[in-house]
Amino acid sequence: MKFCSHCGAPVTQKIPAGDNLPRHVCEQCDLIHYHNPKIVAGCIAEWEGQILLCRRAIEPRLGLWTFPAGFMEIGESTEQAAARETKEEAEADVAITSLYAVLSLPHIGQVYLVFRGQMTAPIYKAGSESLEVKLFPLSAIPWDDMAFPVVKDALARYAADVRRGQFQLHLASLSDRI
Ligand SMILES: [Zn+2]
Repeated sequence: MKFCSHCGAPVTQKIPAGDNLPRHVCEQCDLIHYHNPKIVAGCIAEWEGQILLCRRAIEPRLGLWTFPAGFMEIGESTEQAAARETKEEAEADVAITSLYAVLSLPHIGQVYLVFRGQMTAPIYKAGSESLEVKLFPLSAIPWDDMAFPVVKDALARYAADVRRGQFQLHLASLSDRI
């Protein structure tokens, strides 16, 4: 950040009084510009033992697979965001059934909230951000063509829970090494 979004004056990096981290501070209007993690809401949409995956039509990771996920918007709840992303990317309707995983990515300042959602019908197609949308049995998940490590991690946990016959809430922090 170079300029104050409030008054347009140049900002400087310094540790404000009473704080312990450097922030972008406006010397003119004294506004402190905090930069905090963003929430990504995702949905593992289920239909008769299969899950819905999308092949990305946009960078980054164009052509690779993910479950529907994206940044939350102001004015919606986390589960509404997960259902909206499923509608946008896969044109599928889901009833969100539970929170499945909270996965922190400290190195890029993101937190993934992954939900399970029951598809209301086996109706789906590629939204504008997807090349292709498909229901996969767990035995056919394209593990080598996953768009993001966090997506692969969440689906691996999901597949293990299905094999075990018991779902649990997963809480984990992923490094940039996986
Ligand atoms: Zn300012």
